[in-house]
Amino acid sequence: MDTRIDQVKPARAATLAGMAALTDTFDLGALGLSAGEGRRLALAVHGAPLDFGGQRYAVEPAPLPVTLDVSRMTGAGWALRLRLAAHLQGPCMRCLEPADPVIEVDAREVDRAGGGEELESPYVEGDALDLRGWARDALVLAMPSQVVCRSDCAGLCPVCGENLNEAPDHAHERDPDPRWAKLRELKLE
Ligand SMILES: [Zn+2]
Ligand SMILES: [Zn+2]
Repeated sequence: MDTRIDQVKPARAATLAGMAALTDTFDLGALGLSAGEGRRLALAVHGAPLDFGGQRYAVEPAPLPVTLDVSRMTGAGWALRLRLAAHLQGPCMRCLEPADPVIEVDAREVDRAGGGEELESPYVEGDALDLRGWARDALVLAMPSQVVCRSDCAGLCPVCGENLNEAPDHAHERDPDPRWAKLRELKLE
């Protein structure tokens, strides 16, 4: 039995950001669960910046706290649930000012190898769970189609690049068509 895991109490998850065991790979077997038993664990994984839409986003906090629910299924196998909330820090894709969206993840995996009904998780190898890889992939899947500083960000003026959030009345006068100018001259004569 891994005593370090026993010290992690789910009720304290919210305050564990800096204290949760840094666990990029989690040993499911060390929980010593028998069939039908489950545990909830407050853990943390190393983060790495995400490249998305041609921009780079830092993932905060680092290390990233995660909540892992582990259930040992009857027969052999694991039912797993991963929850986390990450702040992304990088440019708004419309106006390029800093954006800080919160991405929430609630992901599930089942791993039941052999026994006819095969259901293998790509993150489980024997009793070893690739918690870091799973958290990262789940985060990418939960990304919005566009990272913005706020949902109604007005973006940049396509003509001169001015930030339209700061200058809502910004507009360009259209150059009058030179042929109309000529016509007006003719009428005046
Ligand atoms: Zn913006
Ligand atoms: Zn402009």
